[in-house]
Amino acid sequence: MTRRPRASTAKTKEGKPTRSEAEAAVRTLLEWIGDDPNREGLLGTPGRVVRAYEDWFSGYKDDPLEFLRRTFREVKGYDEMIVLRDISFESHCEHHMAPIIGRVHIGYLPDRKVVGISKLARVVETFARRLQVQESLTAQIANCIQNVLKPRGVGVVVEGVHQCMTTRGVRKHGVSMITSQLLGHFRSDPRTRAEFLSMIGRAADRA
Ligand SMILES: [Zn+2]
Repeated sequence: MTRRPRASTAKTKEGKPTRSEAEAAVRTLLEWIGDDPNREGLLGTPGRVVRAYEDWFSGYKDDPLEFLRRTFREVKGYDEMIVLRDISFESHCEHHMAPIIGRVHIGYLPDRKVVGISKLARVVETFARRLQVQESLTAQIANCIQNVLKPRGVGVVVEGVHQCMTTRGVRKHGVSMITSQLLGHFRSDPRTRAEFLSMIGRAADRA
């Protein structure tokens, strides 16, 4: 490899590879698939891939627990279910680093502490922008809300299309995976669970 990578601007943490090391790894993959990293069209690719990774995996920098702790507020007199439907997310599976594209639905029964819509969306985003398995993503969102807001119950349903399944291997197009995590009243009270599932548009026997 004769090309000198551009000077690294990486803020290297302990043991973390530099930006130019990450770009070199992309060049290795380009060669490994049988292409030529030195051809015109690919010269800028390692740099772009590494910058895209910074975006796709930006969730490692933030702590959603800490973020929710800073942003919840106390309300009196509201004790009905709060539901957020169709929060879109893009994540990557930890098995193939392939995209998982989907939606998250969240419901909770507040006990004085509530949080704005955009804050919950950010919790989803932060966990999604890490390497994930969908079951963990679902549980992490639910547990984060449970730990900070201490609601009477939480329900999280995630619907995801895994491109490692739809574009390679068995190539099952149109298959989506649904996972749910139900805590507190959402788990113990069938009426609460049914109300949540009907609010997000799912029949109780399907989730
Ligand atoms: Zn995968």
